[in-house]
Amino acid sequence: MNNLFLCINFYIYSMSKFSVIITAGGIGKRMGSTLPKQFIVINGKPILMYTIEKFYHFDPKIQIIVTLPEEWKEYWEALIVENDFKVPHRVVSGGKERYHSIKNALEYCYGDYISIHDGVRPLVNQQTMKNCVKKIRNFDAVIPVVAVSDSSRKKDGTTTKTVNRADYLLVQTPQCFKKEVITKAYEQEYHKGITDDASLVEQAGFVISTVDGNDENIKITCQTDLHFAELFLG
Ligand code: C5P
Repeated sequence: MNNLFLCINFYIYSMSKFSVIITAGGIGKRMGSTLPKQFIVINGKPILMYTIEKFYHFDPKIQIIVTLPEEWKEYWEALIVENDFKVPHRVVSGGKERYHSIKNALEYCYGDYISIHDGVRPLVNQQTMKNCVKKIRNFDAVIPVVAVSDSSRKKDGTTTKTVNRADYLLVQTPQCFKKEVITKAYEQEYHKGITDDASLVEQAGFVISTVDGNDENIKITCQTDLHFAELFLG
């Protein structure tokens, strides 16, 4: 009976279609460089290419959709030629905010399960992806998280107060959803409080499940992050 259950589960998994939206539709104002951060070259290759390759190596059959700022699409085409980059992917125009970029990309996803990943997180590892994919069959939404290791304080007017760091988790991507769940969540209008897809899905009434992420899976945001990424990518 157990074996039959395992076989059925494996069959469903192998027949399921997965899509990933790698969102790189922003122009990275906080980095303070004219080149959007997803195109910055680390150890000879643009950040975004490392990120795309991570998903391709995890599952060569996965549908890869990449959002890019409209005005940088030609630049990306040139980078592909220059780097002889062969990973198949579809480019979709980004929008004004991350929310709009994802909403555009969702139109093109054919997967039963859809992962959404920041293009500037090239340090996601295979274990984190495996954790998400394994759990998503039984849950609506699965996201990777890591523990807070620094002591933490909460702003309170003009002062700050200690909080119990064990009560908090840091959220990463890829965030993985059943297609009908993420589609429903994106029927909601944009508002400024949306910082990730899980928050939107939660607002739509779904429960968010968590799995272990990997500590080095940082979102490259500032110059220091670039030095950190340089140590790990190569
Ligand atoms: O700006 P932030 O660092 O939060 O961006 C996270 C990810 O969202 C980045 O990969 C960025 O390119 C992407 N993004 C997007 N469309 C926007 C703004 C940001 O896809 N309009």
